[in-house]
Amino acid sequence: MIFREFDGKELFAKAGMTVPKGGVARSAGEAGAVAEGLGFPVVVKAHVAAGGRGKAGFVARAETRGEVEKFVGEMLGRTHKGLLVEELLIEESLDIEREAYIGVALDGSSGCALFMYSGEGGVEIEQVARETPEKLLKWQIPNLATLREFHIRDALLAMGLRGDALNKIASAGFKLCRAFAEKDLMLAEVNPLALLGDGRVVAADAKVEMDDNALYRQPAYKGLGGTVEADAERRGREIGITYIELDGDIGVVASGAGLAMNTMDILKDRGLSAANFLETGGGITAALIEGSILLLFENPRVRGVVVNLYGGVNSMLEAAKGVVAAGEKNERGLPFAVKILGNQQEEAWSAIEAARFPFVRMVKTPHTEEAVGLLLEMLEARS
Ligand code: GDP
Ligand code: MN
Repeated sequence: MIFREFDGKELFAKAGMTVPKGGVARSAGEAGAVAEGLGFPVVVKAHVAAGGRGKAGFVARAETRGEVEKFVGEMLGRTHKGLLVEELLIEESLDIEREAYIGVALDGSSGCALFMYSGEGGVEIEQVARETPEKLLKWQIPNLATLREFHIRDALLAMGLRGDALNKIASAGFKLCRAFAEKDLMLAEVNPLALLGDGRVVAADAKVEMDDNALYRQPAYKGLGGTVEADAERRGREIGITYIELDGDIGVVASGAGLAMNTMDILKDRGLSAANFLETGGGITAALIEGSILLLFENPRVRGVVVNLYGGVNSMLEAAKGVVAAGEKNERGLPFAVKILGNQQEEAWSAIEAARFPFVRMVKTPHTEEAVGLLLEMLEARS
């Protein structure tokens, strides 16, 4: 379950972190009243559990009640990343001098918690990780239960932080780690962690994801707004795949993490970007492949699909049957590039060819580049 910003900030405030004053509103009138209570200027934000709002025009600074109501009118009822904006967050405007990033996440490969910091906040942290990894601290927390503030301080020292900023960011980071441990979180991110002109360090944004399986231990958080993404990820787990929604618009189905990452890299090289990470794991059946593709169809951003499967033991004929079954339900006629290789590949190819889908192109070589090239051709033909 991914929290909306206000709920995330409430959790941060309970942990002792500094957050902006603010409140949620569901109409222009309510928003105006919240703003009057705070005093101008204020910031109006679409209250949906997804990032990237700043770039999409869903964060705006308002000097007057009239401006607040105008922004609310512009944001309400629109969608951001497939989420309907039904609520606004109105906050005191911060006098931000510098934006940093802090986060705590579960590291899937080690099962440990990872503390992260970057002096480059406000921008997408994935971009920092990709382009300037040296600017992102990723420190594996040896033991959350015995973690002390000075451990965080030491880790931050290595990133060149000093003085007052070091102390305040270490304190915020430590509180974030404690909240992470106490509340059974899977992810807690502050982006930006705002360093203000008056010396305060404030959580200007909040992304909090709680482990659904821990909700029985955290009854106070039951029923808080989750997101489409979290829901899709949970259903992915239910059908036996790993599914993570991303920002792009090309759906990817791959039979392993390596193949998935490789497909995503090739998409990126060709100027496309993946709408998701999806790994089927072992145990490929027709139903699993069909279910995987149907999950992609639910994402309104998806405008094309790459199916990239390799079967050593698994029957690729089964996989192909899944592709055909999902293809029958491809109501939007999304273009498909299909690459299926391995066990029973000939039978798989025949099954797909027999379906005669006009939107499917197939490659029979081990080159994912070719499949992505075909997808590009189909996308260009459509636009
Ligand atoms: P996101 O784009 O969905 O992650 O939304 P954020 O809450 O992070 O806001 C996007 C950007 O708006 C931030 O990185 C800040 O640069 C800016 N922003 C948000 N709140 C304030 C504020 O109170 N004052 C100022 N000056 N900028 C803000
Ligand atoms: Mn943000």
